This record gives sequence, structure tokens and C-alpha cells, in this order.
Amino acid sequence: MKRFCQPIQTHESSSKLSRCRQLLRSKRLGFALTGLLAFWVVLLSACQTPEIKPLEIVTGDTCVRCKAPITEKHFAAEFVTKDRFVRKFDDISCLVQHAAKVGKNNIAAYYVADFPSQKWLKAEEAYFVQSDQISTPKNSGILAFKDEAQAKTLASQYQAKLVKFSDLIK
Ligand SMILES: [Zn+2]
Repeated sequence: MKRFCQPIQTHESSSKLSRCRQLLRSKRLGFALTGLLAFWVVLLSACQTPEIKPLEIVTGDTCVRCKAPITEKHFAAEFVTKDRFVRKFDDISCLVQHAAKVGKNNIAAYYVADFPSQKWLKAEEAYFVQSDQISTPKNSGILAFKDEAQAKTLASQYQAKLVKFSDLIK
């Protein structure tokens, strides 16, 4: 009986041992997989393309188009290319001309400064006033507004036309 039981016990204990080993192996495998996953998460987040957002105008910035220093932000504009390069301009007309050169398909976002607040706004959401009587760095006479009423008031003051971004960038 003892003899008969012995191999069974041995077998059981050996099978327990092997199960235990399997468990250890699978735990090790689990740790390894978790580690690998964490590595990929870190790697992917590091490689993520930066967010598309406007950059502030700082002292020393020059217009990409005409190379003039950008000293008055309320006339400024910029665009972000699809490969995340920010191009800054001293006048909205410089942005329009440079966008034609770069190609609309290569541009991810356009920003213009709201004339009264000097805060960036998406060019597509802005109201533009264009008049020969308005003086801007490159004499385009184009100003951008976030507020339509403000744009209309100025437009009537200068007998200017109110335009949208799609009218400027064709
Ligand atoms: Zn310029």
C-alpha cells in the first residue's frame, strides 16, 4: 500500500511542483509582458506628435516672409505646418503669401491676433477688416477680430469691407 501510494504521492508532488513552476514561469512572463507594455507606452508617449497650438511672439521674432521684426502683435499672424513648425508673420498678408508658397496641404492650423486683445484666435473663426486707410506693417490694411460687432464697427468707420479667412487664402 505504502509502495502503491508512494509513486502517486511523488507524482502528485511532482505535478504540484511543475504546476508551481508553471505558475512561476507564467508570473515571470506576466512581469516581462507588463514591463514590455510599460516600455511601449513610454516610447509611444515620447514619440507622440506635439499638440498643434500657437506660439507667443517674443522679442527677436522676425517675419518668415519679409524678415522684418515682429514688434506689434495686434497685426501678427502665424501658421503651424503639419510637421509642427510654427511660422510667424508681422502682417496677415505675409501669412497669406507664405501659405501659398508652402501649400495649404502642408499647413495644419492658422492663427491671427485679435486686434483689440492681441490674443491668438483661429483664423477661420476671425472676422477680417480690410481697408487702404488702415495702416499695418506691410500696408495690407488687414485686421483680425474675434468679435463680429467690433469688426463691423471698424469696417463702417473706414468704409472697409468685412472678409472671412476663406476670402483671403485661396
Ligand atoms: Zn512680413
